[in-house]
Amino acid sequence: MIALLLAALLLPQQVLIATPRGNASVPVSTERGPAAVAASRLAQPLGLVASLEGNAVRVTVGGRTFDFDLGAPFVRTGDSAYPLVGAPYVVRDTLFLPLHWLADFVPRLSAGRYRWDPIVARLDEVASVAPVVLTPSPPTAVPPAPTVSANAPNPITGLRLAHTVVVDPGHGGIDPGNPGLHFPGRLAEKDITLAIGRLLRAELLRRGLNVVLTRSTDTLIDLADRPTFCRAACDLFVSIHVNSMPRGRRQGSVSGVETYFLSDAKTEDQKRVTQMENDAMRFETTTPAADGPLAFILRDLQLNEYLRESARLAELVQGRVSAIHPGGDRGVQQGPFLVLAAARRPAILVETGFATHADDGPFLASALGQRRIVNAIADGIVTYLLEFERKLAVGGPAR
Ligand SMILES: [Zn+2]
Repeated sequence: MIALLLAALLLPQQVLIATPRGNASVPVSTERGPAAVAASRLAQPLGLVASLEGNAVRVTVGGRTFDFDLGAPFVRTGDSAYPLVGAPYVVRDTLFLPLHWLADFVPRLSAGRYRWDPIVARLDEVASVAPVVLTPSPPTAVPPAPTVSANAPNPITGLRLAHTVVVDPGHGGIDPGNPGLHFPGRLAEKDITLAIGRLLRAELLRRGLNVVLTRSTDTLIDLADRPTFCRAACDLFVSIHVNSMPRGRRQGSVSGVETYFLSDAKTEDQKRVTQMENDAMRFETTTPAADGPLAFILRDLQLNEYLRESARLAELVQGRVSAIHPGGDRGVQQGPFLVLAAARRPAILVETGFATHADDGPFLASALGQRRIVNAIADGIVTYLLEFERKLAVGGPAR
């Protein structure tokens, strides 16, 4: 299902705009890589108004204003900025806007006025919504972003914009994750990831960020549902896990932290971790995505902005955590994690250490160890967001 959704989002030939005033078919262009649509083709069906001044693109649709810069894969609206798959560009006097913006941000920030159906690439304007609501009513899982003046940096972090981080403690409920050979008592991976996730939420809140936990208790959330917590008001998706080695000669000797971003698995070790984490699907009732389409979509995703952003986020978090981790640095890794595939935001998965290692296990289960890991992950996230805000401020072509 994830693969199908992504396929429809990334690869449609045209988009159908359906409104009470009639329907319009808008061709999708891929001549500059990521899918884009001509702003002029959206003017009539959506009442979209676009203006271009130098590099600055301003688009108003459904009562909401979006600001872009030509060549920059970002969009700003209200107090928030979001990375995009693709950037606005001009070809033969025609302004093209990323399809990702139209299919994702327009409906999600429209307070129910627009709905996107990824299966048939169709954007519906819902007739019954009469008033234009300027402030989006966020989905229940996402707390409303506080109003932050773009000129007042947060005294702790120096960040100027509101950011929301989704923290995903791996496993839960009937899925214990790995059994935790060197955890005290009867703790399993799901308990450690929950403890670290809750501490990470508290630490990020203390630093002025908005945080959504995919679970705050011992419950199982389907892999496919976890990224849906990362909606319009979400900048980053961070999944927390604990690694383990299979029985054998190497079981007790491998230690340390590694951070994954979405890609094809390259090495045997990466395949092992990917298989282990995707294995949570056997506890689920929904049909998993097939290998074939996912592999196909991944090739497409490798071109997109989220991969570069996810890789950078992974690098920063890995650098901070490995600096305080007694088990050492196993580096940034890549794997086709289902939990990351549908986030459509910069998304990473942190394997915080090895339950099968005699030092890593107790470190991960200790209050001090968890506190140090959480501070390090938070440092990495804040550093990434500061970089992100600096890129926005520069504006202009990103390449
Ligand atoms: Zn796990």
